Amino acid sequence: MVPLLDVNAQNHPLEAEFTAAFQRVFKTGHFIMGNEVTQVEAELAALTESRHCIGVSSGTDAILLALMALDIGPGDEVLVPTFTFFATAGCVSRVGATPVFVDSCPVCFNIDLADAKAKITSKTKAIIPVHLFGQCADLDGILALAQEHGLKVIEDAAQAIGARYRGRSCGTMGDFGTYSFFPSKNLGGFGDSGALVTQDDALAEKARILRNHGMQPKYFHHLVGGNFRIDALQAAILRVKIPHYPEYTIGRQRNASHYIEQLSQVPGIAQANPIHCHCSTTQQTWAAENGVKIILPVAYAHNDHIWNQFTLRVLGTGRRDALKQHLLDQGIGCEVYYPLTLDQQPCFQHLPASSRQGCTTAHQLASEVLSIPIYAELQESQIAEVISAVSTFAATNP
Ligand SMILES: *Cc1c(COP(=O)(O)O)cnc(C)c1O
Repeated sequence: MVPLLDVNAQNHPLEAEFTAAFQRVFKTGHFIMGNEVTQVEAELAALTESRHCIGVSSGTDAILLALMALDIGPGDEVLVPTFTFFATAGCVSRVGATPVFVDSCPVCFNIDLADAKAKITSKTKAIIPVHLFGQCADLDGILALAQEHGLKVIEDAAQAIGARYRGRSCGTMGDFGTYSFFPSKNLGGFGDSGALVTQDDALAEKARILRNHGMQPKYFHHLVGGNFRIDALQAAILRVKIPHYPEYTIGRQRNASHYIEQLSQVPGIAQANPIHCHCSTTQQTWAAENGVKIILPVAYAHNDHIWNQFTLRVLGTGRRDALKQHLLDQGIGCEVYYPLTLDQQPCFQHLPASSRQGCTTAHQLASEVLSIPIYAELQESQIAEVISAVSTFAATNP
């Protein structure tokens, strides 16, 4: 049996430290804000190399808070990748703005800059690049585009805490960066929490006030905020894991290297080539000419990928679902992130057609992707099991 994720394998060895953290909060009786929150914010600021870190209730609320602090609302358009988790666009709708869905790169799965550029209008106020599966989007290109058109940039780094782009830490390059500590993220807590970072003193101050009902000083409200606070208990739990975070990343990177080294030897399986970045048609021709049926993910040379997911592309109608069933039959966990792009979601069908057009590469990805176990604590024998199962599929389903 190889589960897709085993949170106990990471958490149980630290039981004594978690118990001590619980005791610390329990004894003080201080459950809202306070020292644990201040401390975790300082530690997360150090980890992410940011000037300000604001602990919040979830990764979703971090995005919402960033949009609120930037005054994005009705009448505004926000560019978002269509191939991402729902929260990226859901928050845009919740502040009353219109998400405009952008197609994806077939190599790294991140936002397609050319398509983003083509979708800018006089109403576009912001862009939310997502560093999907742990690899940074094309930030230099995005920042240049944002500068040219006066757009705000919110980096959705929910899946990419600690990942780097040309030496810079993911989440620190835009106006805001957002992180999630949902248990399946690389730094996973015991429930929901998240964080927002910024390098701008005024934006940090505004986000801090909005996090607590827009209240400053107590019981005086110049802004309408919400309750977006991180729990002290959750902060204490995260503080146990932060010192171990580098080991978790090393484990994931080691597992990804194993998969790539061994699976790329198998006939019909090849790693994606960065040459095909943003160009689906040349990639399709390359796959057809070389008999490639399964494409392995690739980390661009300028990125430090943290492998929140290790995502295969299985080409050919129905073959992804066949591989998924093949793995599940052998007790190997796997999942489709994401089966439907956001422009295809029922709740967004009322949006104007101009918000939802031209996402053909992303639609293709949604029908081909399959993520396999990559968590740091995987045993070598488990990795071997996964490799063997994928190889058998490739050999028997040419
Ligand atoms: C997980 C995730 C979120 C939301 O984080 P939560 O903590 O679950 O609210 C937002 N964006 C992306 C890309 C995510 O993967």
